[in-house]
Amino acid sequence: MNEKCAKILKKVINNMYSNISLDKLIINDDEFYYEFKTSDKVSENDFPKIVDKMKEIDNNIFVKLLRISGVYYEGIINNEMINRISGKSFYSQKELDDYEEFLEEAKSRDHRKIGQDLDLFCFSDYVGPGLPLYTPRGTIVIDELKKEMERICKKYGFEKVSCPSLADISLFETSGHAKKFNDELFRVSSPKGHEFALKPVQCPHHTQIYASKIRSYKDLPIRYMESDKQYRAELQGAVSNGLSRTYAFTVEDGHIFCTREQVKQEIINICKLIEEFYSNMGLWNNHWVSLSVRDYDHPEKYIGDLDDWELCEKLLQKISDELCLDAKRCEGEAALYGPKLDFMFKDALGREIQIPTVQVDFATPKRFGLFYINENGEKETPVMVHRAVLGSYERFLVLLLEQFKGVLPIWLSPVQVNIIPVNIKYHDEYCKKVLELLADEEIRVSYDDSKEQMNKKVRESNIMKNPCTLILGDKERDNNLVSFKMYGSSQTISVSIEDFISMIKSEIKRR
Ligand SMILES: [Zn+2]
Repeated sequence: MNEKCAKILKKVINNMYSNISLDKLIINDDEFYYEFKTSDKVSENDFPKIVDKMKEIDNNIFVKLLRISGVYYEGIINNEMINRISGKSFYSQKELDDYEEFLEEAKSRDHRKIGQDLDLFCFSDYVGPGLPLYTPRGTIVIDELKKEMERICKKYGFEKVSCPSLADISLFETSGHAKKFNDELFRVSSPKGHEFALKPVQCPHHTQIYASKIRSYKDLPIRYMESDKQYRAELQGAVSNGLSRTYAFTVEDGHIFCTREQVKQEIINICKLIEEFYSNMGLWNNHWVSLSVRDYDHPEKYIGDLDDWELCEKLLQKISDELCLDAKRCEGEAALYGPKLDFMFKDALGREIQIPTVQVDFATPKRFGLFYINENGEKETPVMVHRAVLGSYERFLVLLLEQFKGVLPIWLSPVQVNIIPVNIKYHDEYCKKVLELLADEEIRVSYDDSKEQMNKKVRESNIMKNPCTLILGDKERDNNLVSFKMYGSSQTISVSIEDFISMIKSEIKRR
């Protein structure tokens, strides 16, 4: 069906616009594309007219034109920019209607719009696309996520480390990342002769903290964690004003150095950590696990010894069985250095995303000559386990905002309590008193002392999705009370200030 529609689209475009050249049809299972150059201006406003003309040729097609974008001819950056119209075809009007409904739903959950409405992040032409800037409100959300990650990881024995964003290129040459990332690596050089690269991953840096002193078997396992920026040189056309794909992103990364005997228990611990974090976030249901193994036909894509690969794949299978993860074997999905367990989640629109991952790596420690002194006083190579729980904060924020339509849980919300006076003339002083009491308890509180009417302020507080709104007037002031409304509830409740503070604090702590 896509093929049929694509050909009709081509015909219509060639009739409607002049001087068509450099044109090409691309058809896949999901969508179809027509790329072309014309001397006319084409925009999405033309879509209804184009679809009408397509229906004139064949009334039995059901088609949706999705977008028009500028692409480089043949995908090569130095070539000319041409138009690309993307479309999707359906077998019935009903299918098409359902899809349009899905698009509407997706629009209402679009993290770019929510992020802007809630003032969480922004982009600047000066800074460049693909480089998100977090506002004060957005920074609070990211920081709270970091704190939550640290809290849980500490329970599982992780220690926080901190490394610079760049390193001598030789670090990534040794680790194999320079070759693996190749044109995705941002290289940084200076007139003074520095040859650096911005880190595309944190692993190589962490190996060097391990290598900073002689380790004994008694020191193992050693578990490092870090939430820091990583950089990848994505194609210029691939980044946009959203958080889904960016040049710079913050990754919550962790590495364990342990003995071969300890690997199994370490992986089990991480699986438990992942379950705990996602259960707290209310996202644990709706996932499946992939046991990502080698592409057996292309061994050249990987580093490390065959025996080690064999051993690791068996080990992960065993763990999957023991923990009843029911992991599905996916060939060709392994990491550069070893097999992994990937946890796949469904987002609010049913699309699949991979976030947490546990990867066993025998190769990297060997490449860097890492060792520990075993019980017999001999040098032995440790195993490295890579793990991500939350993954990239950017992508995780996309998932959260779209899942909850911007309604963040109270512990994550930039403002937890918003205070509104019934009449600022009479209640300003009392509002300020309550503000101070709440702030002293480290509750994130704001006070709307603008000139607007009370009702407008309440509406505004709702639009900003503040979890709790306080409305303070005569009754509250004269009796030392607060009246509050939780987001999404129509009920207004009045309690003493002390009771309110202990209630809201336990609400925040509950997560
Ligand atoms: Zn790693």
